[in-house]
Amino acid sequence: MTPKIARFLAQHQPATPCLVLDIDRVEANFRALRDALPLARIYYAVKANPAHQVLERLVGLSSYFDAASIEEVTACLDAGARPETISFGNTIKKVSAIRRAHEAGVTMFAFDSREELEKLARNAPGARVYCRILVENEGADWPLSRKFGTTIESARELMLQAGDMGLDPYGLSFHVGSQQTTTRAYEIAIGKVAMLFTDLTEAGVNLRMINLGGGFPTRYRDEVPEIDQFGSAIMTAMTAHFGNALPEMVVEPGRFIVGDAGLVQAEVVLVSQRDRNDPVRWVYLDIGRFGGLAETEGEAIKYRITTPHDGSAMGPVAIAGPTCDGADILYEKSNYRLPLALTSGDRVELLSTGAYVSTYCSTKFNGFAPLAEYYL
Ligand SMILES: *Cc1c(COP(=O)(O)O)cnc(C)c1O
Repeated sequence: MTPKIARFLAQHQPATPCLVLDIDRVEANFRALRDALPLARIYYAVKANPAHQVLERLVGLSSYFDAASIEEVTACLDAGARPETISFGNTIKKVSAIRRAHEAGVTMFAFDSREELEKLARNAPGARVYCRILVENEGADWPLSRKFGTTIESARELMLQAGDMGLDPYGLSFHVGSQQTTTRAYEIAIGKVAMLFTDLTEAGVNLRMINLGGGFPTRYRDEVPEIDQFGSAIMTAMTAHFGNALPEMVVEPGRFIVGDAGLVQAEVVLVSQRDRNDPVRWVYLDIGRFGGLAETEGEAIKYRITTPHDGSAMGPVAIAGPTCDGADILYEKSNYRLPLALTSGDRVELLSTGAYVSTYCSTKFNGFAPLAEYYL
């Protein structure tokens, strides 16, 4: 918890559940990544947290932006971003969205199929396009694997044709999966994409850019490598494959920029031991899977939780949300332990919930109000 967040919670005691995010930490994370990869342009993946205050601070730091919808494009423009700094990075776009983005001056678009490339040729003529390659997502706690990206063979064919279709064949991209905990995943993906890059360049395509995607992890319950380790692994791999002729490098971090900048404060609604013979207590919070904690699906993302009783005796717990849906369980199998003194009415904090929480919140399931948000 940053001092600014601690002060805010103590002074205001906001109604729960609420997300409180320190924008200075967003800036610190952005700078840390820029220092770790000084040769890469940073396109912030807006979907991780599209709050105006986040976007505005990043515009001030000369960030670029990766938008997934026309609404995200508009949010970036509203925060002061220039259209040339926005990449429309979703490989699945409505024709109307492509047209509107193109009209607004966005010039960089992703695709991973012939059908999408044809849509771009018709509705964003002259645009810089890059093809997303399917890579392994091993090591990622939140994989994106099979929904996006194409094979080396198809990418080669499509990039060879993009020029004749009136588009600018700009580059290649991949995404190693979100919350990627190994540097190795980037090294393998770079090797795969570098071969195609060289091959296409030799075939006369004027490729200039490699987009390494996002995936850089936030520290949750378990340790993860430092951002500098990702930076040096990436630069070593890039230099090994390209020598001094490095292409333009793009990264699209989402989670790393905002994840540990925010926390959720929640109230304990009930602590119960429904089976006297089972030592596991059930802790029900006023936020759950439908209140924004969607990434607890499959217990994939394991948030750290702090309570007013930390330091006292602990016991095993299952942790669930307040709704009447049986799927609204956060953790049952991940060996969570919380203080035995924990009781209804206590306030607890779920740490590093600045990414992929506010926007995953349902609007009114069971009548519960959506998560309140404070940006400091
Ligand atoms: C979600 C996404 C990102 C951001 O991923 P993180 O793991 O949050 O860094 C980047 N690029 C694309 C195309 C994405 O879909």
